[in-house]
This record gives sequence, C-alpha cells and structure tokens, in this order.
Amino acid sequence: MKVTILGSGTNLHPTRAAAGYLIQTDEPILLDFGPRTLSNLLKTGVDRHTIQHLLFTHYHVDHFSDFLTFFFDAICHSKFTSIRPDLTIYGPPGTKRIFRSMFRTFPNFSDPPFRVILKEVKEKPFVIGKTIIMPLPMTHSEKQVCLGYRVEYERRSAAFSGDAMVSLNLVSLCQNVDLAILDCSFSSHEPGGSHMNAQECGKVAKKAKTKKLVLSHFYEKADRSNVVTQARQFFKGPIVKGKDLLTLNVGRTTIAD
Ligand SMILES: [Zn+2]
Ligand SMILES: [Zn+2]
Repeated sequence: MKVTILGSGTNLHPTRAAAGYLIQTDEPILLDFGPRTLSNLLKTGVDRHTIQHLLFTHYHVDHFSDFLTFFFDAICHSKFTSIRPDLTIYGPPGTKRIFRSMFRTFPNFSDPPFRVILKEVKEKPFVIGKTIIMPLPMTHSEKQVCLGYRVEYERRSAAFSGDAMVSLNLVSLCQNVDLAILDCSFSSHEPGGSHMNAQECGKVAKKAKTKKLVLSHFYEKADRSNVVTQARQFFKGPIVKGKDLLTLNVGRTTIAD
C-alpha cells in the first residue's frame, strides 16, 4: 500500500494544500478533497478519471471543496471525451443529503453521464476490491459526525484521523497500525479546540503502539513550531512531518519523495 499526501495544511495555508490523501492498493482511493488537493493529484500522474472511490471524513470545506471542480471536470470529460467509470462516494451520516442537494443545485450536476453511488458509513467495516476499510466516529464537531478511517491491505494498515481530538475511538483506530496520519493542527505551546496538538498526537501514537506517526493538517502557527520534537516527547518510533506530495510506502522502511 502506498499513501501520497495531497494536502498537509488547512483551509487557507499559504504553502500547503488542505486535507487530502491518495491511497493506492489494488484500487486508487481518495480520502478527502480539500482546496488545492486536486492540483496535487494531477502532479502524481494518476489519471483522475480512473478514480472510482472517494472517502470523506466530514464536510468542513477544508476537506471537501475540490470535489466540486473534480466532479464538473468528470461530467465534461464524460460528455465530450469518454465516459468515466462509476463513482462511489463514502461518508458519514448526512452524506446523501449534502450530495443530493448539491447535485440538484449546481448547473449540469443533476444528470451526470456516469453512475454515482452514495454510501453512508459509520462503524461497520466495508471493502473496496481487496482493501478493508473501517470507519470510526471521531470527536471533532458537534454539528456533524467526523469519521476516522483505518485502511488494511495485504496485511498492512494505515489510519487516518481526519479532524480529531484525543478519544478512545482514535486510539482504537490507530491500534498497531503501520502508519497513522494524525490531525496536528496545533503546536503544544498554543493548543486549540476541536483538533489535536503535537504532544497529543505523540500520546495517541504511543498508546496505540503505532509503528510510524505522520503529522499533518497544520495551521500556519503549528507549521512554524517544532511539532516533531513535541510529539517525540511521548512517541519514540519514527515521526514524519507531513508535506504535500510525500509518498509513504506503508509497511516498508523506505520513504520516497
Ligand atoms: Zn473539521
Ligand atoms: Zn480540517
């Protein structure tokens, strides 16, 4: 399994795209689609028209807005070049309502030339090809469910916290995973609400016996502080500061740019 960070920043970070990851198993899977991540997806060389599975953690726009550009492009491509394969969208409860109202509202979105399947998931595992995916609700926003996802393929595993504070569910999501990509919005010197800071990421990785920790989803202030050192106070395994277009080979020792 390979994971490429499409976005390691937040909504309006000046140098990083917002949340988004490309997971490559026997299928390419996109997890979140925040602003500027579509441009980074193009740079990976993966043909966007072959992507059939999108996972959403939640619908704050820093995890979502490039879907609009992607979907309009998919419609145009299917009308004028060749019809793309089905698109299945997985997300927390509320996913059907959000997408159906978007499809009704945006021009040209209501009748795409390809099939769109909407699936609401919460706590039951599901499969995409040979990849097993376990969603679990995180603690983030009172107004909507935010899911973390654990992805397993060929006995390798990766956990994605989405936006999350420390919780038992988050520790269970990350238990013994080869790679945990965690919400490190804040420095431990300036912690904030609804997200973790670097020390908390380290504590979760330690408690869950994660093999490797990747810090991501930085606000500018966190980016300027030494988040790796802060996380290392608790987690003694390898820690990577996430950056856009970094590719991680899950379960192997090498990290290739
Ligand atoms: Zn959020
Ligand atoms: Zn976010």
